[in-house]
Amino acid sequence: MQSTARAQFELSDEQRAIGALAAEIAQREIAPHIARWDREHHFPRELYGKLTDAGIMGMLVPETYGGVGADYVSYALAIEELARVDAGTAVTVSVHSMICSAIAKIGTAAQQQRWLPTLAGEDAIAGFALTESDAGSDAAALRATAKRSGTGYVLNGRKQWCTSGSHAAVIMGMFRTGGAGARGVSAFLIEPSRAGVTVEKVTEKLGIHTSNTCDLAFDDAEIGEEALLGDEGSGFGNAMTALTAGRIGIAAQSIGILAACLDESVKFARERAAFGKPIGAFEGVSFKIAQMATDLDAARQLTYRAAALADAGESFGIAASKAKLFASTAARKHSAEALQIHGGYGYTTEFAVERHYRDAKITEIYEGTSEIQHLIIARSLLGRLD
Ligand SMILES: Cc1cc2nc3c(=O)[nH]c(=O)nc-3n(C[C@H](O)[C@H](O)[C@H](O)COP(=O)(O)OP(=O)(O)OC[C@H]3O[C@@H](n4cnc5c(N)ncnc54)[C@H](O)[C@@H]3O)c2cc1C
Repeated sequence: MQSTARAQFELSDEQRAIGALAAEIAQREIAPHIARWDREHHFPRELYGKLTDAGIMGMLVPETYGGVGADYVSYALAIEELARVDAGTAVTVSVHSMICSAIAKIGTAAQQQRWLPTLAGEDAIAGFALTESDAGSDAAALRATAKRSGTGYVLNGRKQWCTSGSHAAVIMGMFRTGGAGARGVSAFLIEPSRAGVTVEKVTEKLGIHTSNTCDLAFDDAEIGEEALLGDEGSGFGNAMTALTAGRIGIAAQSIGILAACLDESVKFARERAAFGKPIGAFEGVSFKIAQMATDLDAARQLTYRAAALADAGESFGIAASKAKLFASTAARKHSAEALQIHGGYGYTTEFAVERHYRDAKITEIYEGTSEIQHLIIARSLLGRLD
């Protein structure tokens, strides 16, 4: 069924190979440990060296900088396969790839030379710091500042829920360099190891326990002029461009969770018997599985289409919003159905569906909530009426 859905999209051999590679690594390096990592809220730092060696961390880094130079369809397939085994690893790789892509697109030659070979080949992870305690969906309200100094900028303020923040070699951080609103925001490439940057708190979460989510404090942290990514005042736009591509990754993460739920539901519905038959013989169960498979196919088509538009250099923002909205809603809904199909067993930690149920919820929240995706799609049809 999975190969049929993908065949409709006419994947190239190279795209299939990247998906297969990610699936193979996920099975070998993550699957045997994931139940324990999840239980212990363990960030598997050692895993990322292996993902680097396999080319997964350099997927969106051009070959000239030591990466794979893969397209977005391949990237979506790889994230999907990682998420099928562990959604936490998938988001870590997705955010990392989003930063690689941003540097490849808008970085100076010096920034590309400094960071891309490192992020592709030296077991280094990238993070993204936009959100603050009072600036989430309304990210343009951010208050952390970057004040010009003689040699560069001085950073002050707090960033909340930075993915991989405790382990990142570099963070794309958005700070206010000018007046209020989006135009006063600039983006920087910041090494969290430098003086004045501290991890203030690691956040405990409902799911994606293998990902690191932390608050970062910036207290008179000095950075050089060369850390500015893009022009001064273009940081909000550049962050939104990065997030638009990132939404393909979150849609793919949702698809991976959904595919895992389908696999486990089919298996369980065949094996578990009640009233003298396998429970899959009851329409109350089999129709749930049929809907899950249908929504999985639809989510894949939307996501691969958004990725293919990005690869063709066409406008893909609305397609990425639709893909994320649909795939994340389906992942949340069907992870609950998968748990229901498993009955009491589904509520225990002996079956992976309870983890998928906990992991699925975040896909509707980060990189733009479902409400924000609705808003983006509606505005593309109606214009701004407010
Ligand atoms: C595990 C995790 C990892 C994260 N990783 C990162 C990261 O790496 N980097 C980063 O910068 N951020 C990260 N975030 C932050 C995430 O992107 C935000 O939580 C998200 O954008 C929502 O912002 P908020 O939580 O402030 O909610 P709010 O913006 O306060 O929204 C609260 C509710 O109001 C709704 N709402 C808000 N505005 C509107 C509107 N105009 N119309 C309709 N409804 C609206 C929202 O949809 C939501 O339901 C992460 C968050 C989590 C939980």
